Amino acid sequence: MATGFDDRGVIVTCPACEQQNRLAYERLGEPVRCGRCKHEIGVPTAPVEMASSADFDRLVSRASVPIVVDYWAPWCGPCRMVAPELQKVASRRAGQLLVVKVNTDVLTDLGERFGIRSIPTLAVFAGGREVGRTTGARPASDIEAFIDQATKGVHHGGHSGHGG
Ligand SMILES: [Zn+2]
Repeated sequence: MATGFDDRGVIVTCPACEQQNRLAYERLGEPVRCGRCKHEIGVPTAPVEMASSADFDRLVSRASVPIVVDYWAPWCGPCRMVAPELQKVASRRAGQLLVVKVNTDVLTDLGERFGIRSIPTLAVFAGGREVGRTTGARPASDIEAFIDQATKGVHHGGHSGHGG
C-alpha cells in the first residue's frame, strides 16, 4: 500500500516483504517490482494522505495520471461520508488516476492557496493544473462522472515535466 511521498515519487510498501519501494511520479500508472524480493507491487488502490504542500506541488506537476484531491478535515461529517466513496473510486480506477487527501487543518497553506471555502471539496489536477472542482459529498459513481468530465480532452504522457 502507498504510505507517503518523497521528492521523486509515491512510496509503497511491498505486500510480500514490506520493503519500501517508490513509484516515480512520471510512471504512476505502471506497476513495479519490489527492489528486494521482485514481487509485483500494484499501483495504489486507496487514497493517500498528503503530508506536505511541497509533496503536493511535486505530485500535481509531475504525475503521469490525473490526481483527484479530497480536501477534508477530521471534524467534517460529510467528509466522513465521502471517504468510503473515494475509496471505491481509488480502487476501481487504480492505475488510471491517484486519489490523495488534503487535511485542510494541517495543510492550511494549500487550502488558502486554492481558495477552499467549504469541505468536502473534490478537485482534479491534470497536466500540472486544476481542471475541475466540486463541493459536497456524493456517491462514487457521481465522483467518477465528475472526474471523467474534468479530464475529458486532457492529454497525458509524453512530456517530461517542466521546471517551475
Ligand atoms: Zn518485496
